[in-house]
Amino acid sequence: MKLSERVFSVAIDGPAGAGKSTIAKAVAARCGFVYVDTGAIYRTVGLAVRREERDPHDPGAVAALLPGLDISFDYGADGAQRMHLNGEDVSAAIRTPEMSMYASAVSALPQVRAFLLEMQRDMARRQSVVMDGRDIGTVVLPRADLKIFLTASLQARARRRLAELAAKGDRSTYDEVAADMARRDHDDASRAAAPLRAAEDAVTVDTSDMTLEESIGAVYNLVRRRMAERDGK
Ligand code: C5P
Repeated sequence: MKLSERVFSVAIDGPAGAGKSTIAKAVAARCGFVYVDTGAIYRTVGLAVRREERDPHDPGAVAALLPGLDISFDYGADGAQRMHLNGEDVSAAIRTPEMSMYASAVSALPQVRAFLLEMQRDMARRQSVVMDGRDIGTVVLPRADLKIFLTASLQARARRRLAELAAKGDRSTYDEVAADMARRDHDDASRAAAPLRAAEDAVTVDTSDMTLEESIGAVYNLVRRRMAERDGK
């Protein structure tokens, strides 16, 4: 087998709003890889918990729901990852500020992380992926071919998220978005189960002063270089 026929995995971790999903999706498209948005999977668990009116911080209540959940995803013609919960397309329903907080709460529970681990690893075994999340390089794919820690200042991240929400008609203010984000960063980084942190062998990319195109180009170049190194070995 030629080396280039082996699957290649790119792990992208970082705080909310650093541009992970937009950049990961664009880089995956350029490389012909599958993009896996793991945050969307946690959001879908969060939505299920909300609909069942369970407390997202209660490990027993959330764990009891997990075996009955039918969570799956596929890709639309535009390459967008669509999430399904018990057969219903919930791709839009999971993109609200409330679901961000629910996802963050359920993702702190080790039972939820264990439940989703195999689903994520399986994706990377079957095909080349760009997978983004909080613990991809540290826990999910510790042997990823390339690990990137994508970050940006809180101000830059909040400004971008505000624009995204406003485009959807959400009327959150800058202060609300920044406060939610700061709280989520803190919760994600300080939790005991798979906290957000850069893997030791991750390359850090700070996108605060980069345009989206520059950020995509920077990550794409890292992938190209690593693929060439790997094939040259
Ligand atoms: O990336 P996104 O903002 O959609 O993720 C929602 C929440 O899901 C994050 O705040 C984080 O708490 C959780 N998450 C996680 N591990 C991942 C992906 C997301 O804990 N791999």
